[in-house]
Amino acid sequence: DPLMQRQGEEVLRKLLESGFQGYFVGGCVRDELMGRPVHDMDIATSANPEQVIELFERTVPTGIQHGTVTVLMADYHFEVTTFRKESSYGDHRRPLSVEYVDDITEDLQRRDFTMNAIARDIDGTLIDPFHGREDIELGVIRCVGIAAERFDEDALRMMRGIRFTANFAFRPVKSMWRALLEGRDKLSFIAMERIRVELEKIVLGVHPLRGLALIERSGLLHYVKVPVILPSELRRDLLEAIVYVQEEDSEIRWSLLVQGLDISGAEVSRLMKAWTFSNSVAQSTSEIVLFDEAWSEIRSKISLQNEEQLRINWVQLQVRFGKPVAARWLKRQTILLRECCMLDTTRSGTELRALELTCKWHEGVTVHSVQDLAVSGSEVLFITGKKAGPWLGELMKQWLLSVAMGEIPNEKELLLEQAKAVVNLGGR
Ligand code: ATP
Ligand code: MG
Repeated sequence: DPLMQRQGEEVLRKLLESGFQGYFVGGCVRDELMGRPVHDMDIATSANPEQVIELFERTVPTGIQHGTVTVLMADYHFEVTTFRKESSYGDHRRPLSVEYVDDITEDLQRRDFTMNAIARDIDGTLIDPFHGREDIELGVIRCVGIAAERFDEDALRMMRGIRFTANFAFRPVKSMWRALLEGRDKLSFIAMERIRVELEKIVLGVHPLRGLALIERSGLLHYVKVPVILPSELRRDLLEAIVYVQEEDSEIRWSLLVQGLDISGAEVSRLMKAWTFSNSVAQSTSEIVLFDEAWSEIRSKISLQNEEQLRINWVQLQVRFGKPVAARWLKRQTILLRECCMLDTTRSGTELRALELTCKWHEGVTVHSVQDLAVSGSEVLFITGKKAGPWLGELMKQWLLSVAMGEIPNEKELLLEQAKAVVNLGGR
């Protein structure tokens, strides 16, 4: 993005003109070298945070305790961090204190991997003391310095290492992988939330299967504080389908992952919350799994020959779960059947026919809650002159199903007529 680039250079220029050093650093330099899209540009400077705040008109002290100030430019913002080194780790996670330094090389030295330890100045010259560029060309992940020490300082780096290895389709150098295997128990010191963030970047990234395979081979997750479930041999095909799911359909990816681990719908939400996923992600994932379980159950009892019976069950299920859940399940089922050839040829004809029908039924359902009906409860009470009671809820639920099935139209006049008839019958 040339505009981001230009505004970033403006920040650098201002720092330089005031006698400080300033460089682009980290992920953005790496991504540029790899020809990947750059989503944000971090800046490292010799100016201390107070000086940065002084120098720029609009700033936010986002991480002032570790030297980071966010500088707001016209359209983009930039994290500007004072050169620093980190000392006294002690507990295998973030450093206890930071110490500012005045040399970019020393700042690069605290970074995790060689490809993340490259700086670029305003003219495009690279400062690359650890040969990160060469490692990018070789396609390898290598720690800055001695891998065992770097993982010992901050155990999250092991998860980051797997994330970068998977997402870039790189391979770890031997010394890095060996240190990771030796140091993996230290992951137990890291907060679940930070581990989950890395797991998300792996599962929602472009090579989720590579990442999951690396996680499995490393045994890293055996050292986290929450229960870990191993992929089930039987459901491996669900895991493999993840790559066909668009990255933005994250709930569908998670649903395949958890079912591939053979977790039942009832357990999904609890497990995902233990993994610090938000309630909404946990819920929407578990709904897909629950929907799948319920529909499989129905399919095992009612054959496609009994089409009308199957349709009734579908509509009831869709009304129960809501249209978006059903839509996500259909999207997922389409991927499973069409893209990953989950089926042997004897069953594929029937299953594809079932998919076609369910898509059609899905479209046909126009109401999913009593609020979608053409009359409200108070209108029914008004026209019938009766007192509210359980009868009203039951009547409306009955209407909801009848309208959803297409048995009666969703029309005010008609429903109110029916209400009067029902009340007269009941009042006899
Ligand atoms: P992306 O933003 O694409 O996920 P990134 O490399 O920018 O990747 P960030 O977490 O944004 O990753 O960190 C920015 C930079 O800070 C990294 O490139 C790296 O130099 C450094 N860094 C981040 N986390 C660590 C860590 N745990 N140990 C050492 N250095 C780190
Ligand atoms: Mg970044």
